Amino acid sequence: MTEKLFEADALRKECLATVTGCEKLEDGFGIELDQTVLFPEGGGQLSDKGWLVPEELANIPKLGESLKDVGTAATKTGSGLGVLAGQIVGSVVKEAAAAVSGAQDAMQAAVQKFAGLPVNYVEETKDGRILHHTAKDLKVGSKVQVKLDWTTRLDHMQQHTGEHILSYAFWKLYQLNNIGFHMSERLVTIDLDKEITLEQAYAAEDFANREIWANKPISISYMPHTEVAKLTMRKKNTKLTGMLRIVAVEDGDICTCCGTHPPFTGTIGLIKITKFEKHKDGSRVEFLCGRWALEDVRKKVHYITEASNMMSTKEENVCAGIAKFKEETAALREQLKQKTQALQAGELETLLKNPPLDSKGNKVLVAIEDNYDPKSAKTLYQKLTAVEKAVVAVIYANGPRVNYMFGLGQGAQGDCKELIAKANELFGGKGGGKPEAAQGGAMAAAAWQTKAAALKEMLLKA
Ligand SMILES: [Zn+2]
Repeated sequence: MTEKLFEADALRKECLATVTGCEKLEDGFGIELDQTVLFPEGGGQLSDKGWLVPEELANIPKLGESLKDVGTAATKTGSGLGVLAGQIVGSVVKEAAAAVSGAQDAMQAAVQKFAGLPVNYVEETKDGRILHHTAKDLKVGSKVQVKLDWTTRLDHMQQHTGEHILSYAFWKLYQLNNIGFHMSERLVTIDLDKEITLEQAYAAEDFANREIWANKPISISYMPHTEVAKLTMRKKNTKLTGMLRIVAVEDGDICTCCGTHPPFTGTIGLIKITKFEKHKDGSRVEFLCGRWALEDVRKKVHYITEASNMMSTKEENVCAGIAKFKEETAALREQLKQKTQALQAGELETLLKNPPLDSKGNKVLVAIEDNYDPKSAKTLYQKLTAVEKAVVAVIYANGPRVNYMFGLGQGAQGDCKELIAKANELFGGKGGGKPEAAQGGAMAAAAWQTKAAALKEMLLKA
């Protein structure tokens, strides 16, 4: 069994361990150790990350430290040069020692980073073994220094412990129960058993942040489940038996939990609810804590600043500005619709007045339109194909594309599949359909209107 050092000390960042097992997994290896500082995924907290550094690379002798001793000796003894000279030599050597020591620390960090075996996931198996997932194997019996990726751990502890405190706030203020918890990269949610209002969300957020600012101690203790049953607490798992791990915020939340928590609530930094919505019969609350909350707020401040600059208005007026834009756009769209309809009516009249006939006696109705939208094109197409014995072509440019539609009015003779094949060839496009109707499109080339005119000629000569 692996000793879980993180249970007693969540701030411990490294330990020396012996490899006790190494098994081949689907995508690498699972390394077992006699002890570890890396927390395996569980209880709603994500897995730690870290490195396993072979012992011989983990301990580079500290030359800087021995130099510092020489400096201290020189200062003390005067070094046979007189007291003042001894002090000067001592100071110079000590300063050199500090520089060497700093360089060694940097070198050691670099060696460990490049020579250490990354652990990207730590798993606790059903039979209680802890597997450190790595890409390479390690020799059983060898010694490694286990190093924790502290940034990731702190992120996870902030979210996880923040979840305890926010859940406590909803429970304490409104007797709401946390019935579900989810945590993934930059997304943390809790599910509450009743719906909440915005005022309640703000009040719980305020309460939770005051718990953080009070920097209350968080303690870990163990007691038998029979004793736990007597405690007044937010979350009780009645299925758990034996000695249970209790996590308690001083004069605050108490619950059973196997995760890692900082010793004081202040480490969480900040809790920010980012969204809440109705979920089943209750609410789902999204929130972020600590660094993730800071970076989320920073991103959102950037967006709102950009938006207010673009609209040349104060931040608090951005929403009113957007509402005004939407109103104006809707009015312009309506105007455009009416103008297009009027234009189409005029075009129809021209097209239908003495339409040219082909050799089979079909009326050839061809509309070639620039800057046209698909909705207007469809309406025009429908009106033209409603004409008896009409062979219809609607060819129009929309943004960077040219689109084409072919159809037959009642009683007309023709084959739209042939027409679409010809159009695809002319425009270098794609499309298909049936003998009575077909459509397609291509990227609009510079001479698309000349090609459309050629197509019209072809229809007239048919
Ligand atoms: Zn916990």
